[in-house]
Amino acid sequence: MRKIAILGSTGSIGTQTLSIVSEKNDLQVVAMSCGHNIQLFEQQVRKYRPKLVSVWEEADAASLRTSLADLDVEVQSGMDGLIAVAMIPESEILVTAIVGMLGIRPTIAAIEAGKDIALANKETLVTAGHIIMPLAKKCGVSILPVDSEHSAIFQSLQGNKDNDIEKIILTASGGPFRGKSLDDLEHVTVADALAHPNWNMGRKITIDSATMVNKGLEVMEAKWLFDVRLSQILVVVHPQSIIHSAVEYEDGAVIAQMGVPDMRLPIQYALYYPQRLPMSGEKLDLFEVGQLTFEQPDMETFFGLQLAFEAMNTGGNIPTIYNAANERAVALFLEEKIPFLRIPELISEAMMEVDYIPNPTVDDILATEQATYEYINRNLNL
Ligand code: NDP
Repeated sequence: MRKIAILGSTGSIGTQTLSIVSEKNDLQVVAMSCGHNIQLFEQQVRKYRPKLVSVWEEADAASLRTSLADLDVEVQSGMDGLIAVAMIPESEILVTAIVGMLGIRPTIAAIEAGKDIALANKETLVTAGHIIMPLAKKCGVSILPVDSEHSAIFQSLQGNKDNDIEKIILTASGGPFRGKSLDDLEHVTVADALAHPNWNMGRKITIDSATMVNKGLEVMEAKWLFDVRLSQILVVVHPQSIIHSAVEYEDGAVIAQMGVPDMRLPIQYALYYPQRLPMSGEKLDLFEVGQLTFEQPDMETFFGLQLAFEAMNTGGNIPTIYNAANERAVALFLEEKIPFLRIPELISEAMMEVDYIPNPTVDDILATEQATYEYINRNLNL
């Protein structure tokens, strides 16, 4: 039995992780957490019977303690609860399917407790990659990417550990607004931006795909995960989302991972690595796909992607400012308080205005997050 813990079991990645657990008979969820969706969470707890669970608000935890009184489960709350879930002694692997920088501290705690990390929560690496990667190395734990592109790169690296990477080819679908101009994007609505052509994901990451900020975050994530220079990462728009990313080696060979867009594959690969197991669902039919096409990304229209390269190039807490400004701006866009193009503009303004810290600690990162939120509130008179 492979024992796992999940941060963010009620989200898009969390529920897909649980669907894999349901299909297999050798995975056991020993701990899990959610934010506020306690109705779904209660159903999950009843079905998967973890030993320890955590929700964000103590009031929700109190209510769950009553509603789950018939089960042998401990209910915690807040950051302490997330950390307890992350480092529960019984688990071997932690799935970080939580959204945002909240994931940093629990991920560090899990690494220090010797857990392998199935990492979906990209914000952790984007903002604290300089802390997480050396710590994982020191503690001898594996960071197994769940993001489909990074899983594809990881899969393309198998059997090649002694060969140098020439280039990482990070594919991008281009999102719902591929081919549009800045003028076209002036008046797009929330519904337009949520209509992703290929992937079915959470709301925040779907907007990030529409702005291509998601690709920017993935560039930063790739740099940390695979220890390459920024100049070695090439973003290629590939609208069919069949090639999930690739690695080019020194001899010019390009090894790619292909498949239908289905997040369950990278999740399952991370959970069973290095084993491949059968998976239900649609399989790739190349005849049906017909054509695979590739384009240069339009970094002028999708300037959020360009800003990611600049943020990573400067380093320090600038990637944190990039990420925090984007989180706040996306939330405001989803609330229909700002237009779509204001998202990358706010990121750019925050990167210039919030104080720079060259080698931030976790406290500095979290303080930068707050400073960025405050900057945006001031900027927008909120
Ligand atoms: P969702 O928004 O669907 O889910 C987020 C999860 O985090 C939910 O379980 C939510 O709980 C939980 N959460 C939110 N706030 C809190 C809080 N304060 N305390 C504890 N838990 C909290 O996100 P996704 O599943 O889409 O994404 C998760 C991560 O994976 C992100 O970092 C994303 O970038 C990354 N990712 C996602 C992909 C996808 O296909 N969705 C692909 C690749 C990476 P609740 O709902 O109960 O409030």
